[in-house]
Amino acid sequence: MKQSGSCQCGLITYHFNQEDVLSAHHCHCKDCQRSTGCGKATILYIPSKKLTIEGDLKFYESKGSMGSTIKRGFCGNCGSGVMSYAKELPMLKFIKAGTLDDSSWLKIDSSFFSNSAEEWNAPVKDLKCYEGNPDMLSSLKNVIKSL
Ligand SMILES: [Zn+2]
Ligand SMILES: [Zn+2]
Repeated sequence: MKQSGSCQCGLITYHFNQEDVLSAHHCHCKDCQRSTGCGKATILYIPSKKLTIEGDLKFYESKGSMGSTIKRGFCGNCGSGVMSYAKELPMLKFIKAGTLDDSSWLKIDSSFFSNSAEEWNAPVKDLKCYEGNPDMLSSLKNVIKSL
């Protein structure tokens, strides 16, 4: 099933096939809190090859907890955070779930960084929960390489 999304003003759009989504997560890290202005970011993991983005994203670069460099892509016009990735693993992209045109189908697999989650936006009960970064990137590396 084809899925699509966009930033708030519509200058950035993207699409992909739902079957190509690897997993979905809530991230409660402080950087996600600051960049979204919310208690957490909700992200979808998708192989870069399977994602088509139209429009020019701007990127803000910062250091991730595992020493990686995180590039957060946003619309230069409306400021919506749309997609991010780790510079060391460019073959995997993280889409911000709130930018999907329809996100009703989304199933979340786990929460990251419960150690910096706030009580007013606590990790969802009964969901697998990691205190920090579960380092899924290195385990996903092989999966992605085989695609
Ligand atoms: Zn925009
Ligand atoms: Zn985060």
